[in-house]
Amino acid sequence: MALKIRLYPDAVLRRHAQPVTQINDELRKFADALVETMILAKGYGLAAPQVGVLKRIIALDVESDFYVLINPEILWASEERVVLGEGCLSIPGVEAEVARPRQIRVRALDLDGQEILLEKDELVARVLQHEMDHLNGVLFIDYLSQAKRLTLLKEYERLKKAHSKSKAKISL
Ligand code: ZN
Repeated sequence: MALKIRLYPDAVLRRHAQPVTQINDELRKFADALVETMILAKGYGLAAPQVGVLKRIIALDVESDFYVLINPEILWASEERVVLGEGCLSIPGVEAEVARPRQIRVRALDLDGQEILLEKDELVARVLQHEMDHLNGVLFIDYLSQAKRLTLLKEYERLKKAHSKSKAKISL
Protein backbone atom coordinates (compact mmCIF):
# COMPACT_ATOMS: atom_id res chain seq x y z
CA MET A 1 0.00 0.00 0.00
CA ALA A 2 1.40 3.35 -1.00
CA LEU A 3 1.98 5.82 1.81
CA LYS A 4 1.43 9.56 1.87
CA ILE A 5 4.59 11.54 1.19
CA ARG A 6 4.97 14.42 3.63
CA LEU A 7 5.67 17.76 2.01
CA TYR A 8 7.83 20.63 3.18
CA PRO A 9 7.35 22.40 5.62
CA ASP A 10 5.88 19.39 7.50
CA ALA A 11 7.65 19.35 10.87
CA VAL A 12 8.32 15.59 10.70
CA LEU A 13 10.91 16.28 7.98
CA ARG A 14 13.04 18.12 10.56
CA ARG A 15 12.97 15.40 13.21
CA HIS A 16 15.80 12.94 13.94
CA ALA A 17 14.89 9.31 13.15
CA GLN A 18 15.54 6.58 15.72
CA PRO A 19 17.68 3.47 15.04
CA VAL A 20 15.78 0.28 14.22
CA THR A 21 16.22 -2.21 17.06
CA GLN A 22 14.12 -5.10 15.74
CA ILE A 23 13.96 -6.38 12.20
CA ASN A 24 10.69 -8.28 12.04
CA ASP A 25 7.71 -8.85 9.72
CA GLU A 26 6.13 -5.55 10.72
CA LEU A 27 9.29 -3.72 9.64
CA ARG A 28 9.49 -5.71 6.39
CA LYS A 29 5.88 -4.81 5.66
CA PHE A 30 6.66 -1.15 6.20
CA ALA A 31 9.74 -1.47 3.94
CA ASP A 32 7.53 -2.92 1.16
CA ALA A 33 5.18 0.06 1.46
CA LEU A 34 8.12 2.47 1.42
CA VAL A 35 9.47 0.86 -1.78
CA GLU A 36 6.04 0.92 -3.41
CA THR A 37 5.61 4.59 -2.55
CA MET A 38 9.06 5.41 -3.97
CA ILE A 39 8.31 3.57 -7.23
CA LEU A 40 4.87 5.18 -7.66
CA ALA A 41 6.40 8.61 -7.08
CA LYS A 42 9.18 7.79 -9.59
CA GLY A 43 11.83 8.70 -7.03
CA TYR A 44 15.43 7.51 -6.91
CA GLY A 45 15.08 7.13 -3.19
CA LEU A 46 12.80 7.61 -0.21
CA ALA A 47 13.49 7.81 3.52
CA ALA A 48 11.07 6.70 6.26
CA PRO A 49 10.65 10.23 7.75
CA GLN A 50 9.27 11.34 4.36
CA VAL A 51 6.24 9.15 5.03
CA GLY A 52 6.06 10.26 8.67
CA VAL A 53 7.90 7.29 10.22
CA LEU A 54 10.85 8.31 12.39
CA LYS A 55 12.94 5.17 11.91
CA ARG A 56 16.33 4.89 10.23
CA ILE A 57 15.26 3.16 7.01
CA ILE A 58 15.87 4.27 3.44
CA ALA A 59 15.00 2.82 0.04
CA LEU A 60 16.97 3.43 -3.12
CA ASP A 61 16.26 2.59 -6.75
CA VAL A 62 18.82 3.92 -9.22
CA GLU A 63 19.01 1.79 -12.37
CA SER A 64 20.55 -1.52 -11.27
CA ASP A 65 21.10 -0.33 -7.69
CA PHE A 66 18.11 -1.28 -5.58
CA TYR A 67 18.42 -1.36 -1.79
CA VAL A 68 16.47 -1.11 1.41
CA LEU A 69 18.95 -0.07 4.10
CA ILE A 70 18.39 -0.13 7.83
CA ASN A 71 20.45 2.04 10.20
CA PRO A 72 22.78 3.16 7.38
CA GLU A 73 25.94 5.07 8.28
CA ILE A 74 28.68 6.67 6.23
CA LEU A 75 32.06 5.13 7.03
CA TRP A 76 34.05 7.26 4.63
CA ALA A 77 33.46 10.06 2.12
CA SER A 78 35.86 11.25 -0.59
CA GLU A 79 37.47 14.66 -0.40
CA GLU A 80 36.52 15.08 -4.02
CA ARG A 81 33.11 16.67 -4.47
CA VAL A 82 30.78 16.92 -7.41
CA VAL A 83 28.03 19.43 -8.10
CA LEU A 84 24.75 18.17 -9.50
CA GLY A 85 21.13 19.36 -9.70
CA GLU A 86 19.13 17.79 -6.89
CA GLY A 87 15.44 17.66 -5.98
CA CYS A 88 13.32 15.96 -3.31
CA LEU A 89 9.94 14.18 -3.31
CA SER A 90 9.09 16.22 -0.20
CA ILE A 91 9.81 19.53 -1.99
CA PRO A 92 8.38 18.72 -5.41
CA GLY A 93 8.82 20.90 -8.46
CA VAL A 94 12.07 22.64 -7.58
CA GLU A 95 15.73 21.71 -7.73
CA ALA A 96 19.12 23.23 -7.10
CA GLU A 97 22.78 22.39 -7.54
CA VAL A 98 24.34 20.80 -4.48
CA ALA A 99 28.00 19.81 -3.95
CA ARG A 100 28.54 16.44 -2.27
CA PRO A 101 31.38 13.93 -1.91
CA ARG A 102 31.77 11.96 -5.15
CA GLN A 103 32.29 8.61 -3.47
CA ILE A 104 31.23 7.11 -0.13
CA ARG A 105 31.41 3.90 1.86
CA VAL A 106 28.26 2.94 3.76
CA ARG A 107 27.49 0.27 6.33
CA ALA A 108 23.89 -0.82 6.96
CA LEU A 109 21.69 -3.82 7.69
CA ASP A 110 19.40 -5.48 5.16
CA LEU A 111 15.88 -6.76 5.85
CA ASP A 112 17.31 -10.06 7.13
CA GLY A 113 19.49 -8.24 9.63
CA GLN A 114 22.68 -8.99 7.68
CA GLU A 115 25.39 -6.35 7.48
CA ILE A 116 25.89 -4.76 4.05
CA LEU A 117 28.93 -2.73 3.02
CA LEU A 118 28.54 -0.52 -0.03
CA GLU A 119 31.09 1.56 -1.90
CA LYS A 120 29.32 3.85 -4.36
CA ASP A 121 30.07 6.91 -6.44
CA GLU A 122 28.33 9.47 -8.65
CA LEU A 123 24.51 9.35 -8.69
CA VAL A 124 24.09 6.38 -6.32
CA ALA A 125 26.43 8.01 -3.78
CA ARG A 126 24.43 11.22 -4.07
CA VAL A 127 21.06 9.53 -3.53
CA LEU A 128 22.45 7.62 -0.53
CA GLN A 129 23.69 10.86 1.04
CA HIS A 130 20.43 12.67 0.32
CA GLU A 131 18.32 9.89 1.88
CA MET A 132 20.61 9.51 4.89
CA ASP A 133 20.32 13.27 5.47
CA HIS A 134 16.55 12.78 5.81
CA LEU A 135 17.22 10.50 8.81
CA ASN A 136 18.82 13.48 10.54
CA GLY A 137 16.19 16.02 9.57
CA VAL A 138 18.47 17.56 6.93
CA LEU A 139 17.10 18.66 3.55
CA PHE A 140 19.00 19.52 0.37
CA ILE A 141 17.92 23.15 0.66
CA ASP A 142 20.06 23.40 3.81
CA TYR A 143 23.19 23.32 1.62
CA LEU A 144 22.15 26.41 -0.36
CA SER A 145 23.03 30.01 0.40
CA GLN A 146 20.24 31.85 2.18
CA ALA A 147 19.46 33.90 -0.94
CA LYS A 148 19.23 30.80 -3.12
CA ARG A 149 17.14 28.96 -0.56
CA LEU A 150 14.65 31.83 -0.27
CA THR A 151 14.28 32.08 -4.06
CA LEU A 152 13.75 28.34 -4.35
CA LEU A 153 11.19 28.21 -1.53
CA LYS A 154 9.29 31.15 -3.03
CA GLU A 155 9.03 29.24 -6.30
CA TYR A 156 7.97 26.11 -4.38
CA GLU A 157 5.17 28.02 -2.61
CA ARG A 158 4.05 29.50 -5.93
CA LEU A 159 3.88 26.05 -7.53
CA LYS A 160 2.02 24.63 -4.53
CA LYS A 161 -0.62 27.38 -4.73
CA ALA A 162 -1.02 26.97 -8.49
CA HIS A 163 -1.36 23.22 -8.00
CA SER A 164 -4.03 23.48 -5.30
CA LYS A 165 -5.97 25.97 -7.43
CA SER A 166 -5.95 23.67 -10.45
CA LYS A 167 -7.07 20.79 -8.22
CA ALA A 168 -9.91 22.92 -6.82
CA LYS A 169 -11.12 23.66 -10.35
CA ILE A 170 -11.31 19.97 -11.16
CA SER A 171 -13.18 19.10 -7.98
CA LEU A 172 -15.74 21.87 -8.66
ZN1 ZN B 1 14.47 14.02 -0.29
